[in-house]
Amino acid sequence: MIYLDNAATTPLSPSVLKIVQDTNTKLFANNSSIHVAGKTAREALESARFSLSNIFGVNTSGLYFTSGATESINMLLQGYCKQLLRNGSTRNQIVISKIEHPAVHETVHYLKTLGFIIHELQNDNFGRVLVDDLNSYINHNTAIVAVMAVNNETGVVQDIENLINIVKSFDEKILFFTDTVQALGKISTTKITKMADGFCGSAHKVGGPKGVGFLFVKPEFRILPLTYGGDQEHSLRPGTTNVPGINLMSAAFADRNINFTINFEHVTSLNKYLEECLKNKKINFRRTIPFEYTSPYIFSVLLPMNSDRLLEELSKREICISKRSACSSQSHSKSRILESIFIDHDEIDRIVRVSFSPESTKSEIDVFVENLVDIL
Ligand code: PLP
Repeated sequence: MIYLDNAATTPLSPSVLKIVQDTNTKLFANNSSIHVAGKTAREALESARFSLSNIFGVNTSGLYFTSGATESINMLLQGYCKQLLRNGSTRNQIVISKIEHPAVHETVHYLKTLGFIIHELQNDNFGRVLVDDLNSYINHNTAIVAVMAVNNETGVVQDIENLINIVKSFDEKILFFTDTVQALGKISTTKITKMADGFCGSAHKVGGPKGVGFLFVKPEFRILPLTYGGDQEHSLRPGTTNVPGINLMSAAFADRNINFTINFEHVTSLNKYLEECLKNKKINFRRTIPFEYTSPYIFSVLLPMNSDRLLEELSKREICISKRSACSSQSHSKSRILESIFIDHDEIDRIVRVSFSPESTKSEIDVFVENLVDIL
């Protein structure tokens, strides 16, 4: 099988795979138990928190473990808004980009039902948010600005540093959240993880297991819990903690951190190699977004064939790529993200996403392109 859908999820990376059994065997205990096995789990949990905080350059006290980024995003957006409502705050506006993942998009639309007003930032033809729009939407009633670092469908990278500076120089008390799921361990995020008030990550996007993620939120922005029933994670995320999963996530991010440059250069060369191959085979294609504006891990491309039919044909040959975000790929509606960039609906139906991992190879791309030529 050729798997080039790593923005949807990754298989366990070789270094994580090696320690799965050991981690599950040694860290099975409930970290809330007072006996020695519980103590071992508790220490491993705090060591993972320390290691991840170190990688992202943040304080351990704001890092909470969750079941993944969707939960983290809900925990922050809903948790913060509920805290504002409880305090009778006048901050009732939320600014997001038009191209947010459904985890942000649908959560803020739920928050509308609680009385929040939502503003969506327009973007240019490449999917980069319009800074003028941000300037015109923020005011002293703005509660949150949320703009993702890397878009999961197109790979477009936002200038988060600049956006944070604009928001913070206007009003320090506006919470700036950035969904960093497709950015952490893939593109340089050293500055933005230090500057943002909140960000999140998900293990399964970086060679870790599914069902584990984290939220970071600066302690000065208090959030209320969404679920009740235990004092784990400072009562903000109650329930028995997934200590083995969290340790595997920590190992996955550590591996991405150590090999960051090698991986970045490798996927950049794969990305350019794919473009070369498409050119050499005289395939009529167009990059959705110019390479220089994207993460090299995502190659979004317009091809001369309906994407549903192409994906089906490739899948019959055991080649996996995708059309759009995995969360909405079953939906028949057009991609909200691509619609915000392309007016032409016919083109949207011909765009596919090829996404790489550090384990992807040139020979996989060769097989993909050979089959693509054959199908076209
Ligand atoms: N945000 C982005 C940009 C994503 O790509 C995804 C996963 O598709 C998520 C959030 C949700 O992550 P999770 O699967 O951990 O809930």
